[in-house]
Amino acid sequence: MNVLKFGGTSVGSPKNINKVISILENYAEKDNVTCVVSAVGGITDKLLKAGALAQKKDASYKKSFKAIKKIHFDIVEELIPKKNKKIVSQIESKFEELRDLLDGIFLINELSPKTSDKLTSFGELISSYIIAETMESRGIDVKRKNSQELIITNDDFTKAEIDTKLTNKNIKSYFSDAKQSITILPGFVAKSVSGEQTTLGRGGSDFTAAIVAAALKVERLEIWTDVSGMFTTNPKLVKQALPIKKLSYQEAMELSHFGAKVLYPPTVQPALDVNIPIHIKNTLHPEHEGTIISNEVVSTKKSVKGISNINNIALLTLEGSGMVGIPGFSKRLFEILAQEKINVILITQASSEHSICFGIDDKDADIAKQAIDTAFENEISLHKIEPIQLEKELSIVALIGDHMKNHQGISGKMFSTLGKNNINIRAIAQGASEKNISAVIAQKDVKKALNTLHERFFEVKTKQVNVFITGVGNVGEKLIEQIQQQHSFLQKNLKLNVRIVGISNSRKMFFNSDGINLNNWTSQFHYADKSNIKGFFDKAVELNLRNSIFVDVTASEAVAAMYADYLKQNIAVVACNKIACSGTFENYKKLQELSLKYNAPFLYETNVGAGLPVINTLNNLVASGDKVTSIQAVLSGSLNFIFNNYSDRKNFHDTVKQAQYEGYTEPDPRIDLSGVDVARKILILARENKTNIDLEDIDNVSFLTEKNLNSTSIDHFYDTLIEDEAHFQKLYASAKANNCQLKYVAEYNNGKAKVGLREIPEGHPFYNLKGKDNIIMFYTERYPDLPLIVRGAGAGADVTASGLFADIIRIGNN
Ligand code: ADP
Ligand code: ASP
Ligand code: MG
Repeated sequence: MNVLKFGGTSVGSPKNINKVISILENYAEKDNVTCVVSAVGGITDKLLKAGALAQKKDASYKKSFKAIKKIHFDIVEELIPKKNKKIVSQIESKFEELRDLLDGIFLINELSPKTSDKLTSFGELISSYIIAETMESRGIDVKRKNSQELIITNDDFTKAEIDTKLTNKNIKSYFSDAKQSITILPGFVAKSVSGEQTTLGRGGSDFTAAIVAAALKVERLEIWTDVSGMFTTNPKLVKQALPIKKLSYQEAMELSHFGAKVLYPPTVQPALDVNIPIHIKNTLHPEHEGTIISNEVVSTKKSVKGISNINNIALLTLEGSGMVGIPGFSKRLFEILAQEKINVILITQASSEHSICFGIDDKDADIAKQAIDTAFENEISLHKIEPIQLEKELSIVALIGDHMKNHQGISGKMFSTLGKNNINIRAIAQGASEKNISAVIAQKDVKKALNTLHERFFEVKTKQVNVFITGVGNVGEKLIEQIQQQHSFLQKNLKLNVRIVGISNSRKMFFNSDGINLNNWTSQFHYADKSNIKGFFDKAVELNLRNSIFVDVTASEAVAAMYADYLKQNIAVVACNKIACSGTFENYKKLQELSLKYNAPFLYETNVGAGLPVINTLNNLVASGDKVTSIQAVLSGSLNFIFNNYSDRKNFHDTVKQAQYEGYTEPDPRIDLSGVDVARKILILARENKTNIDLEDIDNVSFLTEKNLNSTSIDHFYDTLIEDEAHFQKLYASAKANNCQLKYVAEYNNGKAKVGLREIPEGHPFYNLKGKDNIIMFYTERYPDLPLIVRGAGAGADVTASGLFADIIRIGNN
């Protein structure tokens, strides 16, 4: 005999029921089969919902009833030939019973646990009937037996306990006489000794199957469901979850106790008692191997077998000096909970005995608090203990594995992984057997926690990086192109899976938590929603993805003003926007501090020299103990381009226009020509060199005329360039007469900085600087005479994008 159980999805549609039937027929060729079935997928919830409506005197329960009826009749119509009037009228009469029950609940406006069991039993009773009749109509040797006549319980309605002796006797006696080759049993349902309908708890069909399998001591129990086994974590929440081939009974029990819904926790015990392996299989993919749960000691290098979670947890904390050293205190506490029939899921007590903290189901929280506060009223009024503290909307995440006790550092790894992702841990518990380490966290963080822990313990190989980009002009577009192009390279060589999850500019924004398809992002962007800076931030927070990075490719002050908010949410910031780092020293400092405090990197390599490694080089010098005494640099690609192209044969106005046309200047060229942009860059370098300095402290003698500086618009500025051409020719002629080149130079010397146009003599490293190149010379204690030089293209969309990309990768590799 084989015992197979099919869950809600497996019997949820005619197509799936046909799959179930063919699996059963295959098995029946070799041996007799007992098949336990769940209600049609989702029906138990629907029945409870209809009951709740009726109880609330909401007449829409009738609509729910109709919907439930329709679901079943749709299935019947497809499975059983229309001529079969007998079956149809039988099912009709069953639905009459259901309608009467709901009407009754509506009338007396009460839904007791006892009535609730009558209501929910309907799901399994009807599904088993339909399946058995379908098979019979096809001439299969099948018989349905109502499990309520076999499985006997106490009258703890909604979660009744089995009378094992009676139940086993009934099962053995029924099957000793059974002649059919296939027996269909409704799961979940039972009867009390006094003959009332009871149920075995939500998910209880698994348990029915285990009870039957154990009573008959069959060779194997199979649980057929909608996933290919027990996974390393819930596959619906973590895409990378993997099926586990083998598990011990204890591991399976821990995983299911801590939330792996695929197996109802009590299921393991009956199987374990008589040593029957449990095989979890996928009805939709019978060819998949599935999971085998047995007492076989599984030798594996993996100490952590799976990660599971329980949602809707409340945490209660009892604190006070009055608890220290008083025996029987916890006993009293837990007795109160037991009296209220409240199940304690997790307990932690600090070794100081000063506080005790326990996790229970959210729905029991208020009752528990009230009962405990009342019971300890006396101690509370004497201030020996505090009134109990209650926190809700929490979840437990648990690592599970038989061999965790033999491996050091697992909990360290678990907590540091959560910490790195800014997931706050409210309580920690480790079972004495060390088969489980649990952490209580906010429910909103569960998906992120499961994904990061899974990555840490099962994937190690690749790390997911989630990028949110604001600003998709030349540089932003190039960045997206580079990320797309390098995606598989990074995955293969650096084990980084860099995904763009959000894209926005000043008009539109869109998101895809699975990663935006970069092949057609521009057309997706075309139809995107209206954007706003705060809305983009809110969405990034709401998605709550691990290793999130916000990339600012704008020149916007308002965007830069959001960095602090991002960092506080543990979202890293990468910016080519210089505003934040060249604003007040106070703000610059604050961002550095937030970055450290929230463990969220803040990188802005492209603020100086576009893609050139300038800031990184400076940081490395400082970090390794060198002292930077002086920096001499040409930091403006645009000014360099302009002075390299300007001569007595070309006017200044046209040269600036050309630079703007080729994309080397800021949208407002005055920012470049006034020297402000260069001043900002040397300011940032000075600050990176630990100098407390502001923009006003930088000596900036402009080479522009009063008229240029006082221009009222960009167009007006260009007009003044024409008017003052003679001034620029003078600058050119002087340099030429001295055999020099004009370069706009930034200097930093022992805490002071200045910028300005200089005549550079032949032989100087700046003299031959071509096109839009930058050069930065660091004089340090280790490089006192010959400076450390960084030189190369200092402007342009491609190189700036690659600088941003390098920052993203740096964070990913961290
Ligand atoms: P059935 O109706 O077949 O009894 P359930 O919905 O009760 O199915 O259980 C299967 C579901 O359990 C899966 O669809 C999955 O969402 C969930 N689940 C949670 N944790 C795990 C896990 N570790 N492995 C597999 N499934 C899991
Ligand atoms: N139908 C019941 C439930 O949804 C039992 C089960 O499917 O195992 O809880
Ligand atoms: Mg189930």
